[in-house]
Amino acid sequence: MTEGTARPCPICRKPAALEHQPFCSLRCANLDLGRWLGGHYAIPAVEPPDDLAANDDDASGPEDPRR
Ligand SMILES: [Zn+2]
Repeated sequence: MTEGTARPCPICRKPAALEHQPFCSLRCANLDLGRWLGGHYAIPAVEPPDDLAANDDDASGPEDPRR
């Protein structure tokens, strides 16, 4: 159903595989991940913003939990 929408793998430019999108294979997915973890991108220390931590409005959920 998704014919024609496949983008080429950003690593090797082969057609992407459905199960590994946007990559053509698990290998390319891991390659990209390795790039991320390899120090090309500086990953800041993990400190969640206070806004998210203080967000507790459980009572007003838009979705009904019981269907
Ligand atoms: Zn690839």
